[in-house]
Amino acid sequence: MKIVCLDLEGVLVPEIWIQFAERTGIPELRRTTRDEPDYDKLMTYRLNILAEKKLGLPDIQKVIGEMGPMPGAREFLDKLREDYQVIILSDTFYEFAHPLMRQLGWPTLFCHSLEADANGLLVDYHLRMPDQKREAVQRFKELNFKIVAAGDSYNDTAMLGEADAGILFHPPENVIREFPQFPVTMNYDELRTEIDKAFARVGG
Ligand SMILES: [Mg+2]
Repeated sequence: MKIVCLDLEGVLVPEIWIQFAERTGIPELRRTTRDEPDYDKLMTYRLNILAEKKLGLPDIQKVIGEMGPMPGAREFLDKLREDYQVIILSDTFYEFAHPLMRQLGWPTLFCHSLEADANGLLVDYHLRMPDQKREAVQRFKELNFKIVAAGDSYNDTAMLGEADAGILFHPPENVIREFPQFPVTMNYDELRTEIDKAFARVGG
């Protein structure tokens, strides 16, 4: 009774906003929570730019579909799903992730959602709940699953701490320094090895 919880961006697919900014040549969209810590302000800013540039959901999904998952991600995930239940916990939006989920073979994804008007322009966003990654892990544990979680960044550390075992995947230097309790993996082979080791240790 084991579940692997994986972050999406930076683990299986590229950082969606950053890649999107590059592919569309709209540098303003590179802005992240590091530049604007108020998430609501940041999202309003992003949605306004998309509306200004007249980029609707179909245009956005086309660009995201062309990004593709990271090399080796599909094979890693397929193999992992042969041995474990896998649930992806992400702070992205279903509408953005959709073209990438197709390329990953439709794994289970828990994230947030966007609202578009009749013309496909994005008018609002809806966070399912605050701190959803950690909350999900806590609920799965209450259902008697053993959880191993992996992610690449700050927004994963609460989930990693809540899990029976947490693993960092290709994290930035400052995250490695601040969270020395989590093993660091740099590629899919290392991640798979750490996941198997973690379950051997915590059981389930
Ligand atoms: Mg990430």
